[in-house]
Amino acid sequence: MKTVLITGANKSIGFETARQLLQQGYYIYLGSRDLTSGQKAVERLNAEGLDQVEAVQIDVSDSDSVNAARTALGQKTHSLDVLINNAGISGGRPQSALEASIEQYRNTFETNVFGVVRVTQAFIDLLRNSPEPRIVNVSSSQGSLTLAADPDNTYYHHKGAVYQPSKSALNMYTIALAYELRETPFKVNAVDPGFVATDFNNHRGTGTVQEAGTRIAKYAMLDENGPTGTFISEEHNPETGDIPW
Ligand code: NAP
Repeated sequence: MKTVLITGANKSIGFETARQLLQQGYYIYLGSRDLTSGQKAVERLNAEGLDQVEAVQIDVSDSDSVNAARTALGQKTHSLDVLINNAGISGGRPQSALEASIEQYRNTFETNVFGVVRVTQAFIDLLRNSPEPRIVNVSSSQGSLTLAADPDNTYYHHKGAVYQPSKSALNMYTIALAYELRETPFKVNAVDPGFVATDFNNHRGTGTVQEAGTRIAKYAMLDENGPTGTFISEEHNPETGDIPW
């Protein structure tokens, strides 16, 4: 049975992705920074008859927590097939390029960028033991430099000067990571779940977590012919998933 670690999976997009991968027969390590809320999420899945899942405490902004999670997982499994770096924060509002505090930037990057680096580096040895390792970095169309600079883009006037750079940086990390792993069976991609209704945006999103989960799960389940080093947004282009960096 293939194993998956999903960060920030106690609710919203991460939780739904866990549910869909469970339905596909994967074993899920459900990452949650608060263990109790992770265990409650596991109970909800168990109540649906999905029992190949256990909660793992992991705060991606805390190296001790990430290292403890790596040690705990290493005692349970020799290999990890899929890592989904989903945990993310919006960074609060407003986000003015001239007024946002350095602390606001630092906190946001700590989770959205350094958190992904921290977790990826901590779990890479377990992933290397999988014959078909997959890494999905949950990004955002808001991280597209090309779209953000395009006055014809619908969201041109919606600037989040803290969150957007964090996702652009995550995209660049995805490119660098995929490059370093290019001679291996790894597939490493950045996937935009779409603008979906969650706590993240006070449920203003227009899409559903089900759509988002399906978009992410697809890149967790890529076969050997699947792409690597790409940025995908099925919301931006429903047919191809193409979105400019
Ligand atoms: P959400 O409803 O706010 O859920 C975020 C999840 O991340 C929660 O489980 C949260 O845990 C967890 N988390 C936050 N900081 C963490 C940390 N330091 N360590 C571990 N877990 C942490 O957000 P969402 O909408 O599901 O977003 C999930 C991902 O999709 C994010 O990366 C976000 O940037 C991306 N995204 C979302 C949208 C959208 O429209 N919703 C669009 C594009 C991209 P707690 O429950 O403990 O807070």
